Amino acid sequence: MTFWRTFLDLLLPRHCVMCDAELNASETDICNVCLCNVEYIRWESATDNPFLRRIWDKHDVEAAGSSLYYNSLSDLHNVFIAIKYFRRPKLGLRLAQLCFPYWQNLGLAKDAECIIPVPLSMARMLKRGYNQAEWISQGIARQTGIPVNAKILVRSKHIRTQTHKNATERWENTKNIFSVRKNAPDLNGKTILLVDDITTTGATLCDCIRALRERFPTINVHVYTLGFTHNE
Ligand SMILES: [Zn+2]
Repeated sequence: MTFWRTFLDLLLPRHCVMCDAELNASETDICNVCLCNVEYIRWESATDNPFLRRIWDKHDVEAAGSSLYYNSLSDLHNVFIAIKYFRRPKLGLRLAQLCFPYWQNLGLAKDAECIIPVPLSMARMLKRGYNQAEWISQGIARQTGIPVNAKILVRSKHIRTQTHKNATERWENTKNIFSVRKNAPDLNGKTILLVDDITTTGATLCDCIRALRERFPTINVHVYTLGFTHNE
């Protein structure tokens, strides 16, 4: 395998998503130097941290975690763009597999019934062909053995990119856009892990939680996003 990888790399060199250096046969997507230099989030608790404080006043959430600091100027910008827009969703899966054990050790997703990715609208799904949150969820599933259920939440409308909107506009824009499917299993009294690629204001996650709690008043919600940004 390594021989063929080395051979293929000679013909078609692969490059690091972060620094553009040529990858060697043992590296995938990101070179070892960049992987070592990434600033991983190491909050000490899954039940009291900046992520939870961002969404606590809006909704009760039992636990939350995130793994990579992100802003549009950081080296990780290219990584998230590749995952979301340039058909590299496997990169999200691999990063989630690499990063989630830290949070698993702190009790995130403990006893979770299933992992629920934040859904895309049908129009966006048809255009992009994949949901990056679902791939990140699959990475967590491989690590934890908890199944992914992408058929519980549905996104009823597509909203334009929120990149240039301020926090208030984002909150207004993401009100009541998610709902729970009629035939979803009963999740009352169960714990679920809600997953997205990046959280900025938390508005998208909070609307998902609103929809889940309206249907299942006693659900326990844990939340994980691969990226966490201070851009608000
Ligand atoms: Zn690199």
